[in-house]
Amino acid sequence: MHPYLKKLVQNYDLTRLDGLNVQQLLVQVSEYMESLETQDHSNADASNVPSKSLSPEELSKALAAQAVQFERQLTQLAAVKLGLDDSLSLLNTTLDATNDGLIVFDNHHKVVAHNQLLTDFFGLTSDEVEDHFVGQFLKGLLKRTIHNGDKLLELIRFTNDNPSEKAQGLLHFKDGRYVECVSKPRFLGHRIVGRVWSLRDITDLKQSEEQAKHQAYHDTLTGLPNRALLQEQMERALASAHHHGHRIAILFMDLDGFKYVNDTLGHDVGDILLCHAAKRLNECIREIDLLARYGGDEFIIMMNEVHSMKDVTELADTIIKALERPFFIHSETLYITTSVGISVYPNDGNLPDGLIRDADMAMYHAKAKGRNNFQFFAKELAVLSSHRLSLRNKLKTAIEEKQFSLVYQPKVTTKGSRIVGVEALIRWVLPDGQIIPPDEFITAAEDNGLILPISDWVFEEAIRQASVWLADAPSDFTVAINMSARQFQKPDLVEKLVALLAKYQLPAKCIELEITESMVMDDVETVIRILAELRRLGIQIAIDDFGTGYSSLGYLKSLPIDCLKIDKTFVDELHDSKADRALVSTIIYLSHVMGVKVVAEGVETAEALQLLDEMTCDLIQGYYFSKPVSPDEISVMLRGM
Ligand code: C2E
Ligand code: MG
Ligand code: MG
Repeated sequence: MHPYLKKLVQNYDLTRLDGLNVQQLLVQVSEYMESLETQDHSNADASNVPSKSLSPEELSKALAAQAVQFERQLTQLAAVKLGLDDSLSLLNTTLDATNDGLIVFDNHHKVVAHNQLLTDFFGLTSDEVEDHFVGQFLKGLLKRTIHNGDKLLELIRFTNDNPSEKAQGLLHFKDGRYVECVSKPRFLGHRIVGRVWSLRDITDLKQSEEQAKHQAYHDTLTGLPNRALLQEQMERALASAHHHGHRIAILFMDLDGFKYVNDTLGHDVGDILLCHAAKRLNECIREIDLLARYGGDEFIIMMNEVHSMKDVTELADTIIKALERPFFIHSETLYITTSVGISVYPNDGNLPDGLIRDADMAMYHAKAKGRNNFQFFAKELAVLSSHRLSLRNKLKTAIEEKQFSLVYQPKVTTKGSRIVGVEALIRWVLPDGQIIPPDEFITAAEDNGLILPISDWVFEEAIRQASVWLADAPSDFTVAINMSARQFQKPDLVEKLVALLAKYQLPAKCIELEITESMVMDDVETVIRILAELRRLGIQIAIDDFGTGYSSLGYLKSLPIDCLKIDKTFVDELHDSKADRALVSTIIYLSHVMGVKVVAEGVETAEALQLLDEMTCDLIQGYYFSKPVSPDEISVMLRGM
């Protein structure tokens, strides 16, 4: 190609040729070439001067030939331009359509392209991005806007040192956004010509991920850490305590009387109570401790870095006091207490499971000691608990081998001490003669269902014995039998009783069934229906242990009952507590208004008897008159009347 033409193709602004016909084109080109020629002359640059040997005709011929070629090239160029425009528009549309912020650099860190989202990410203008996205400005910007801005600077350094590598990182913006950042080299053939960075806002994803994680590790009701998190944190804390020589205390708390709240006031109130209790417990601990909800009404505190046992007892004390304060829920004033069991690392063990089990055992001990107190784990407790476990296993044999017997405690009139009835109380006599009281096995039997065959035996034995006494007993004599909640769930309860009464030819009025308030609350409608049916048959119904739960005198009138037994705990305090005296005398008064007889349980002293007499209590039962005794001894008492 002619050197001037070459220059023209390289240097000339081709857009100036748009829309010209060949004629006009030639004029433009020759003008341009003339200007080049003039330039060359004045520069006296010999190498670029066209050959002087061409005649004007030859030159114009050559020029015409070049013009044809030139026109072809122009057409090709126009096609290429069209293709480029198309690619550019595709690129721009793609850049703007993507959900990622994109920025493209060349090898000299100059911004080649970016999209709107990228500018939005940093709150910059397009010009700012194009002109300043480098050096100190970038450093300052990243530090200002991103918590871990250093992380991004590190990524940039990495990509500078390793241009062919991909880089990736998670950025946490100071406004809360989580942004995933990916950087890849940009290739032209096999040559790296720059880098593309993309930023993606994954805040939503991150949040739902964190929410899922939070849910897996927290209790939905109280928001407290759950068992899984406790286990993990305990493992970590124990490892660290081992390393630093610290002690850790595990406080296992079980709310006393929570089941009763749930049963009487409903689960909604129970749930609110749990939340309030959790909040109070949380206020008792330090930042470094952990409070978890372990089960229904069970909470565990892991007390870290225990310096002295005094700190532990102080915390236990604080917890007990915090929960003793009344709770106000839905216009009800609720009182609960808590029993706390404590185990300590390293004294009692070094594994989470073992420490929790020990604290749980100590908590049971606290319950047995009258609730609302704390107890430390001791090795003897483990022996006691294994004793309980073995009792559970032996219960089955006890039924098969008929190791149970009944003793009877008289109920007498407050005035004159006349025997008007007895209460049948079960005893388990082991083959070695050891007697196990009901408190030690009834709950276990209720848990594993063995209470049903046991109760069947009690019913038959008590009814058989009552029929034996019938001849010697006064006409209003009753034999009271304690019931278990499980019996109300059996549809044949009434039928069975009727059959037994018929078998032993005992009038129904000689039998009194003792139920507790919580049994009624388990399923109020069913229990009331069954009680009414039993009463129609002539069987008497008594409410046992009245006053120990959330007793409400109000609902008593809706219950078909004949007798109310005031719990021993009130009777014990009669002498010392004015409040208990007022309470007992109110219960007696209201019961009489409703036509219900009142029995005071656990009367041990003459003073108590006298006070109860003054309060017009109908009957008493207690060691003061007689402990539970054998049926033969009752027979003797009856004959002596
Ligand atoms: P409960 O029905 O309230 O029986 C009264 C308990 O108080 C009896 O304990 C009795 O021995 C005790 N007691 C009576 N007077 C006095 C006193 O003056 N001082 C003291 N300290 N205690 C007194 P026991 O026989 O150990 O029975 C405990 C509980 O076991 C009973 O409480 C009852 O709930 C349950 N139970 C007993 N026998 C049976 C049974 O056959 N079936 C069922 N389901 N439960 C039973
Ligand atoms: Mg009873
Ligand atoms: Mg009782």
